[in-house]
Amino acid sequence: MPDDIALYIHIPFCRRKCNYCSFISYPHRDADIPAYVEALKQELGLRIRGKSIRSIYFGGGTPSLLSARQLNDILATISSLGRVNQMAEITIEANPGTVSEPYFRDIRALGVNRLSLGIQSLNDAELALIGRIHTAAEAREAVSFAHKAGFNNLNLDFIYGLPKQTLNDWQKTLTEAMEIGAEHLSLYCLTLEDGVPLWGTIKRGDLPDTDHDLSADQYEMAEDLLAESGYRHYEISNWARPGYECRHNLTYWDNSPYLGIGAAAHSFLNGRRLANTPDIDKYLDAFVDKPEPVLDLNEEISPELQLAETVILGLRQCQGIYHDDIQRRFGIDLLKRYRRELTEMVNAGLLEYDNRCLRLSRRGRLLSNEVFWRLLPE
Ligand code: SF4
Repeated sequence: MPDDIALYIHIPFCRRKCNYCSFISYPHRDADIPAYVEALKQELGLRIRGKSIRSIYFGGGTPSLLSARQLNDILATISSLGRVNQMAEITIEANPGTVSEPYFRDIRALGVNRLSLGIQSLNDAELALIGRIHTAAEAREAVSFAHKAGFNNLNLDFIYGLPKQTLNDWQKTLTEAMEIGAEHLSLYCLTLEDGVPLWGTIKRGDLPDTDHDLSADQYEMAEDLLAESGYRHYEISNWARPGYECRHNLTYWDNSPYLGIGAAAHSFLNGRRLANTPDIDKYLDAFVDKPEPVLDLNEEISPELQLAETVILGLRQCQGIYHDDIQRRFGIDLLKRYRRELTEMVNAGLLEYDNRCLRLSRRGRLLSNEVFWRLLPE
């Protein structure tokens, strides 16, 4: 296992399931949180002993359903087993409707230094449509709680491409998002997997389907407005004030090693991809019967696939990937290896190449999946 790791902890509990959600999260299981915290501590004991940790990220689900005491318990376990870098970025995802100013003060005092708030929209009709548990007023209140509690590294998540959401609606949300004082914004286009309630509503014709041209316009509007306000577009879906890029997520986009703890958590270590079972009952039982997590996946990533994934993840970053970095890491000449694909995509205006650096063009960011699938091994 590499010595310096990015540590992800999955907290799969939610108050209620949102209409668009296909993440691993369990509503109405709050009673299992204490046992889950114990299971996390056991898994940490098996997997992080002696390791140096450069970032910790509590994702979900709704990690803010854990009390400050439970978070403290987990963080103390991590510190007792591993070496947490003094400058480590420690992020927790939190949802409006589950937080208060004292709660944020308490977790700030534990050393949590970055908050990611799942706001999704500042329009009440849109929030109701996607089944969020909070109103726009509660979202604004959560931001205010965070600032008053001393958080100065705040991310807000938003969704565009919502049914009935006009360009004007999106502009209003974005404008307020910038004014509210967030250092980081993550903007995701709505994607619905088969079977989620909102997908059913659209399939029945009760709501309009996604208008892809409008979503593209919304994305380009975000690129323009955020650039004018001094946010740096550093990854396809992420913008930050300079110096506030998410260090934990940059580990993923650099295709560097990370360790995931908890139900459904994924890891990439020593050239292998591992995934814990997404079944919370199996996960909890695993530590009762035998002291090891239940892996659903444990596969070697071939050098060919590691190269492709590194190129694809690197291209997600707006700065692009450097020919010399790929040469150093894989001993491969990027331009020779992908000559045909890259030539076609540069000619199609999807990729740009200069100063030995390859990056997506503005058009390429809109059509990134068209680029990425062509780089995967056959
Ligand atoms: S809060 Fe997030 S994880 Fe929980 S149900 Fe809603 S979208 Fe899913």
